Amino acid sequence: MKITEIVNKNAPSVSFEIFPPKRDTTLKSIDATLDILAELNPDYISVTFGAGGSVNNNLTVELAKKIKHNYGIEPVVHLTCLTHDKKDIDELIIQLKEADIENVLALRGDYNPDLEIKDDFKYASDLVSYIKSNGDFCVSGACYPECHLESKNRIEDILNLKKKVDAGVDCLMSQLFFDNDLYYSFVENCRIAGINVPIHAGIMPVVNKAQIERMVTLCGASLPDKFRKILNKYEDNKEALFDAGLVYAVNQIVELLASGVDGIHIYTMNNPVVAKRICNGIKSLI
Ligand code: FAD
Repeated sequence: MKITEIVNKNAPSVSFEIFPPKRDTTLKSIDATLDILAELNPDYISVTFGAGGSVNNNLTVELAKKIKHNYGIEPVVHLTCLTHDKKDIDELIIQLKEADIENVLALRGDYNPDLEIKDDFKYASDLVSYIKSNGDFCVSGACYPECHLESKNRIEDILNLKKKVDAGVDCLMSQLFFDNDLYYSFVENCRIAGINVPIHAGIMPVVNKAQIERMVTLCGASLPDKFRKILNKYEDNKEALFDAGLVYAVNQIVELLASGVDGIHIYTMNNPVVAKRICNGIKSLI
């Protein structure tokens, strides 16, 4: 089923993002995580593809199959196109159809000096229209409340996002952010620009200092003062930082829900304890 059909128009969706295990080709090591995530009854689970430069992409589809057929939860398969040609994408589309997977997050991917760039797709919008014209898929796209790092400014970024949505995007999933006000103004600007599809808010519960430093460098998310204070105070106290990071994420989600967000997409980092604590913190609100 397509995620746009699952998501109740009157209630915000709650979904998780996971990544395939790096070494375990049997996918056994992810079972404990999936068991707990499934108990939380998410609207969908998305599975990353080659994120961080990994080339072991076949596990993405395998993991998505497992989520769909063993757990009965709708998966969203991330696909990137910068290092793939039409033949590669055609093969993946066949695999998705065979597995009855209808949801794709179409991405350009990041430049990786170790991987050859192919010419067939320049932007995610090229992949969106290609997938749309090659099957009956629900296609999501990525968006950036604080602007994509390569864009000159927010206006240019939103105009490019509009092109992607016009190419056939049904739903947007946002990059992580720690300041809800930036997200609200981004959504408002999208609506002004005529981008009317649901925009699911990406929330990353930050539970250790190394993780936050890596994330901010990679995606350019800014850290509001109240978040910095937590980091400064608890950076050397693992347990306290874990608790404070979870409470921060729950507070963000509560405020987003109260403000009528379309959906919450939780970057679980494959940590089921984190997902469980967050869902327990908001269970009466969803
Ligand atoms: P695009 O939409 O193509 O945008 C890239 C840049 O090009 C932007 O600056 C945009 O403004 C500009 N642009 C777009 N169209 C045009 C145009 N027509 N003319 C001029 N400029 C244009 N990466 C992975 O490798 N694997 C993953 O699984 C993965 N999952 C992700 C999930 C989410 C929710 C998000 C937010 C990101 C994810 N990424 C993943 C990272 C993503 O691949 C990078 O952020 C990448 O740099 C951009 O991808 P995109 O699909 O947003 O690209």
